[in-house]
Amino acid sequence: MEEDRLTTQTLREEDVEFEATLRPTDFSDFIGQKKIKENLTVYIEAARKRKEPLDHVLLFGPPGLGKTTVAHIIAKEMKTNIRATSGPVLDRPGDLAGILTNLEEGDVLFIDEIHRLSHVVEEYLYPAMEEYFLDIMLDKGPSARSVRINLPHFTLVGATTRSGLLTSPLRSRFGIVERLNFYDDDELGAIVKRSSKLLGIDIDRSGAFEIARRSRGTPRIANRLLRRVRDFAQVKADGHVSAEVADQALKMLEVDHYGLDQMDNRILGYVLKECGGGPVGVNTLGVAIGESSETIEEIYEPYLIQKGFLRRTPSGRVLTKLAYEHFGVEPSKRQKELW
Ligand code: ADP
Repeated sequence: MEEDRLTTQTLREEDVEFEATLRPTDFSDFIGQKKIKENLTVYIEAARKRKEPLDHVLLFGPPGLGKTTVAHIIAKEMKTNIRATSGPVLDRPGDLAGILTNLEEGDVLFIDEIHRLSHVVEEYLYPAMEEYFLDIMLDKGPSARSVRINLPHFTLVGATTRSGLLTSPLRSRFGIVERLNFYDDDELGAIVKRSSKLLGIDIDRSGAFEIARRSRGTPRIANRLLRRVRDFAQVKADGHVSAEVADQALKMLEVDHYGLDQMDNRILGYVLKECGGGPVGVNTLGVAIGESSETIEEIYEPYLIQKGFLRRTPSGRVLTKLAYEHFGVEPSKRQKELW
């Protein structure tokens, strides 16, 4: 469903192209995430002074917050090439060997969704990360032997939606671990303005802010909503995006004032109507709304929790007072006691 795609964030080919156009190429262009920028700038400068590759970097945070973008910026600042792949694509050790042996000294290898690497591939990665070699098995049975291949010194940049999904041996091999957080409205407003400039969209401050505020703290969603709002503005408002035009367009896309979309509201609505406000287990919730529990935990819940609509408790997910206000429903006495 179109609207769901705003948050499920499956990328189509047109999205990939669109995102590449808008991707900041320098830290000076990369808005927000101040601490991460500061830290990485220091590490990069130090590595360059020592003429060494940067330590391996693990980036974690919900989808669409800029992990891929940061990986590309790291390569650019280190003046090296980047090879990008992802956990599910590296199916067999041979796939990993193919990529690693083609790297050049100092290159960045970006592995998206690194928590989805198979165990075998992961085990090959350990010596590659630590001592820059691969032991490849040749032949099978009695004539089996292993050949050691030395690798160039590379920097692995791994991205994952939740650091808890990584095995601890893998996690411990990253010297730099940074967490990307949701963006605040001002930062997202600046991102919307930057994207508008690049795309030649006529937008005013309040229009940009309206889109920012309703983008679930996520640049990818802000850019997508901007594209939809632009279409709406072209047809209904001579192309100019004001707060009012943005509001009308977003209402049409069923993105509400809090930036909650259909799926968020379905989740909250289910807990409210079918579970008396909770607690409800994430698996039950998943089955009821037709999403996997991982998707709920990785994509929807973090924002709902951060915005204070939902709480995680040992017995399950519980709606908050704010969620009741959002639906204009009076909580039961039992529910109030839970707060
Ligand atoms: P992730 O890898 O975390 O899913 P991406 O790096 O692919 O996220 O970012 C998604 C989109 O959001 C990109 O097109 C990029 O242009 C934009 N974006 C992300 N972070 C920023 C930022 N800090 N400033 C400007 N644009 C950003």
